[in-house]
Amino acid sequence: MSSQRVRPEILDFVPYVPGLSIEEIKAKYGLENVIKLASNENPLGVSPLVAEAIIRAATEVHRYPQNHTPRLAQAIAAAMGVAAEQVVTGNGSDEIIDLLMRVVAQPGKDNVLCYEHSFSMYGLTARLCGVAYREVPRGEGYRLPLESLAEAVDENTALVFVTSPDNPTGQTARAEELLVLSGVLPAGALLVVDEAYMDFAWPPEEYSMLNMVAELDNLVVLRTFSKAYGLAGLRLGYGVMPLWLASLVRRARPPFTVNLIAEEAALTALADDNYYSATLEVVFQGRERLLTRLPELGCEVWPSQANFVMFRPPYPAGDVCEELLKRGVIVRHLKSFGLPDNIRVNVGTKAETEAFLKALEEILHG
Ligand SMILES: *Cc1c(COP(=O)(O)O)cnc(C)c1O
Repeated sequence: MSSQRVRPEILDFVPYVPGLSIEEIKAKYGLENVIKLASNENPLGVSPLVAEAIIRAATEVHRYPQNHTPRLAQAIAAAMGVAAEQVVTGNGSDEIIDLLMRVVAQPGKDNVLCYEHSFSMYGLTARLCGVAYREVPRGEGYRLPLESLAEAVDENTALVFVTSPDNPTGQTARAEELLVLSGVLPAGALLVVDEAYMDFAWPPEEYSMLNMVAELDNLVVLRTFSKAYGLAGLRLGYGVMPLWLASLVRRARPPFTVNLIAEEAALTALADDNYYSATLEVVFQGRERLLTRLPELGCEVWPSQANFVMFRPPYPAGDVCEELLKRGVIVRHLKSFGLPDNIRVNVGTKAETEAFLKALEEILHG
């Protein structure tokens, strides 16, 4: 097979590593019941109202959706207190990351910046776009190194990514610190704050940058329906960005990447206050429980404002994950994030979180 016409960065491209699926684990270990706490999904399952909306929308799928999903952009804007023209929806926030990169970063010339042990889509997308990807070290205790980011920026830096709350560490930057970072960036560099987990941070006004987007010309905030709204399988995220950038991104994007069912589901999810508050309640309780119980089991933990907790067991993390799999519990070994000693576990239903803790106790102390 000839590969002479393939771009060199594709030939050695290292693909995204997703968490293991329930079906894979059932087959491999011959299990009937498997608990998945590996991808930070919503433990409550699909909201019944959303499931109904999806079924209603099914009769319309012979039609194209409305391009740029204006009804959804309006609804997001109203719910989040921003202008609809600032909202760009996408096929997951992954698509917004890709669009931003392609709209502002020049291949072969520009660079994008993040810190080590971060969400892999920033680096993967940069590579696919032919844009250099740079990482600065983290601070003590995995703290988000905002000062180092400010120092590492140069005149060719197009985007600076900060995930807050951070995946996989759970660390969260305060809005005032991010404001300082946005203020010291050179003209032409955009600060992208990925708030995929901001729903779970408390109190949100201390952390979220959403209401700063109207005032700052160099700030983009990313949000997603994959976590707190329980729509991971439908692929729907959005960016809130300055008007000049939003209009360029809308101009460049391929049409109809947010499908008709996803739009209807998201409109219903945004209005479903019961599901949303039930989600926050189960996450807050489960996070407290994990942060209390894991140290009692001899694990080191880090503070988290997300729907997951990062911990380090007293035995090799890979072995612990393997033992958990044998007992039907999927968690995320953080080797692929460059943290081979650490594990990320998301909050499940109360029963799932307890089953995980019981299995872990058996492994560590049985
Ligand atoms: C889960 C997650 C997202 C959401 O991605 P989607 O493409 O919207 O599903 C974005 N950023 C981070 C850091 C995440 O962990």
